[in-house]
Amino acid sequence: MKRRSFLQTTGILGLASPALLEQNTSVPEPIIIATWKNEKGTLAGYQKIMETGKALDGVEAGAWVPEADPNETTVGYGGYPDRDGHVTLDACIMDHLGNAGSVTFLEHIMHPISVARAVMEKTPHVMLSGEGALEFALSQGFKKQNLLTEKSKQVWLEWKKKAKYEPKVNIERHDTIGLLALGKAGEIAGACSTSGMAFKMHGRVGDSPIIGGAVFCDDEVGGACATGLGEFVMKTLGSFLIVEFMRQGKSPQQACEEAIMRIVKRYKYQEFQVGYLAMNKKGEYGAYSIQKGFNFTITKNGKTEVIESASYMS
Ligand code: ASP
Repeated sequence: MKRRSFLQTTGILGLASPALLEQNTSVPEPIIIATWKNEKGTLAGYQKIMETGKALDGVEAGAWVPEADPNETTVGYGGYPDRDGHVTLDACIMDHLGNAGSVTFLEHIMHPISVARAVMEKTPHVMLSGEGALEFALSQGFKKQNLLTEKSKQVWLEWKKKAKYEPKVNIERHDTIGLLALGKAGEIAGACSTSGMAFKMHGRVGDSPIIGGAVFCDDEVGGACATGLGEFVMKTLGSFLIVEFMRQGKSPQQACEEAIMRIVKRYKYQEFQVGYLAMNKKGEYGAYSIQKGFNFTITKNGKTEVIESASYMS
């Protein structure tokens, strides 16, 4: 609670001891968490927060790491293409003021998260898509490049022999990076970046660019982000739902569990994975997934740790 609102709500101005006031003005240490095993990403994000103080800079820097990694086949450069051989990217970003930006179906740009940020900061819009997003990116000085690596191309050509669309739970298809951070002022920000489901239909857009789907932040409450089969995250607006659950008083862990149960009950559990990550303004976090195998990475006080998430299926 901010000092002013503490004073307003308690009405004890003049009665509170300096120690008590001090206690109520404290903000948690900067912290950044990300879906899956993303140690280099959270560390880069944490270092950025230490440098600029801002959670928004942290989540952007954190997304840059897998976006530029050719061995990361579900994000940015080296991402598996759609069934026609195009690497198409979705990303979004949201700050503590409720500003948001996103890109969908973007090709040829290594860092879609930064294009999403530019949409947020330099246009009157929230979302740009396809050719329009590319044109905008180029106008902002982003470089056009081929994102399909030889390695990913070979996997796609192999897949084409049978051309059977069957995503495997937790393997190769669900490594979207979703990030949440608290900056030095304790403000929240979130981001998400992906090349989406491998070998998806050309034109398919998942949850990752959807504000409220893959990412949602509200500085009064906290934030949430998602990974997994985006169609189910979109149909339940998972991240928004989690933030609203936290607003009602649930812990980040309880909120993630409720949102997963919403999918499980509504769609009668089928064999797919969705994983959620949430953090409140105190820096408390939680995670939950439908199937086991989901994990997340956290960097705090300069230390990085990968933690296994609890899951609905044992
Ligand atoms: N959520 C992403 C999508 O549906 C995929 C993933 O997380 O792996 O595009």
